[in-house]
Amino acid sequence: MRYISTRGAAPALAFDEVLLAGLARDGGLYVPEIWPQFSDADIRAMSGLDYVELAVRIMTPFLGGRIPEADFAELVEEAYTGFNHAAVAPLKQLDSRTWLLELFHGPTLSFKDVALQLLGRLYDYVLRRRGERVTIVGATSGDTGSAAIEACRDRDSIDIFVLHPLGRVSEVQRRQMTTVDAPNVWNIAIEGTFDDCQDLLKAMFNDIQFRDEMNLSAVNSINWARVMAQIVYYFAAAAALGTPDRSVAFAVPTGNFGNVYAGYAAREMGLPIDQLVIGSNSNDVLTRFLATGQMTIEPVRPTLSPSMDIQVSSNVERLLFDLYERDGMALAKAMASFRRNGRLAVGDDRWRAARALFDGFRLDDADTLQAIAEVYRHSGELLDPHTAIGVAAGHACYRNGAVPMVALATAHPAKFPDAVEQATGIRPPLPPRLNDLFSRAERANILPNDLRVVQAFMRDRRFKGGA
Ligand SMILES: *Cc1c(COP(=O)(O)O)cnc(C)c1O
Repeated sequence: MRYISTRGAAPALAFDEVLLAGLARDGGLYVPEIWPQFSDADIRAMSGLDYVELAVRIMTPFLGGRIPEADFAELVEEAYTGFNHAAVAPLKQLDSRTWLLELFHGPTLSFKDVALQLLGRLYDYVLRRRGERVTIVGATSGDTGSAAIEACRDRDSIDIFVLHPLGRVSEVQRRQMTTVDAPNVWNIAIEGTFDDCQDLLKAMFNDIQFRDEMNLSAVNSINWARVMAQIVYYFAAAAALGTPDRSVAFAVPTGNFGNVYAGYAAREMGLPIDQLVIGSNSNDVLTRFLATGQMTIEPVRPTLSPSMDIQVSSNVERLLFDLYERDGMALAKAMASFRRNGRLAVGDDRWRAARALFDGFRLDDADTLQAIAEVYRHSGELLDPHTAIGVAAGHACYRNGAVPMVALATAHPAKFPDAVEQATGIRPPLPPRLNDLFSRAERANILPNDLRVVQAFMRDRRFKGGA
């Protein structure tokens, strides 16, 4: 199994190389050269497997023999034993044709744990065998930072530094980062905004000397291994609902297009998926694209579903690559003109091809609150704002009542208690194992918005095991 870049001008790489590289050198994203195939008989045989067994079966072909299967099985097992539900991704019926796939039972209560818990372990495994270390650095305004910290904590080959804007993340989100007591984890509260944090991050990666000296890396959402880990739960849900003898549809609250792209990948691998519904908040570049065939960038607007406050959904490039018949040169040209003009028109045929599988639906904050309230009234289920957008989009876009609609629940309601309370009058409690989150000691270092100060801090702290 080899991986090729969507822009056609970077070398093909093996799994472990793609894992560490993240972005391709030509600015593209890596995708598998061919999709592993699962026949109806293969899929039928999945119905008795537990999540870990299924995950190993689905992901092994992507490794291309670069990690021994027994070692990989151990990493997968470790990644998912920390989940707070024996099924890892339980399926719950919401109404006569809608199911909720709960992906928020990991340590930080968002679906990002499903991929990152495995990614942290894969990173550490590959680095150890190479005798290398990396410094992972991230900037966060929400879910990604805590999920990355939980994924990398206590890993011997990794130091992780996460920047967040001082006083500008919610208390739950901050505490999920700052209360992690591990010698390789460093929280930096920047006296500035989230944009300042991102600018610092960019400047660090552009400082070649610093980048090399620290062996800087990022675990962002374009990493192929994150997509790979997310493919598994599409198979798990479909198998539980009687696939391959009936097809299924999925509704996915979408930001960077990583989650829903994993559904597309599952379909390419043989899973009978009829329809993929993209739910968006007011940052609706994708739903506008599906409505018009054109992608245009607009300023980011803050919403009640902050993890979807994104205007350029980087993983869309992987879908475009297939729509452009895997012509990397043609796509590179289109992407360059998109950067220049802020506008990409894909043409009628490609738009139609996308529309055959995808539907899109947008909810603003008022619609989102209403969706939370309605689901609560009809089923007693409390949904977080992101999940509510997926459920409502699925309802709005049903094509075929005989096909079950699986809505992906991407965050635990207690992660966004203010919105849930505003919609229903009920403040969802944290799960028992996080009961003491508000009494745990916090560890964060407040630094000025100054690249040199932050770099000096990082140089000084790494390798020292908590000194
Ligand atoms: C990250 C995130 C999303 C968006 O997922 P993408 O893969 O970026 O489309 C949706 N909901 C929650 C809760 C998230 O944390």
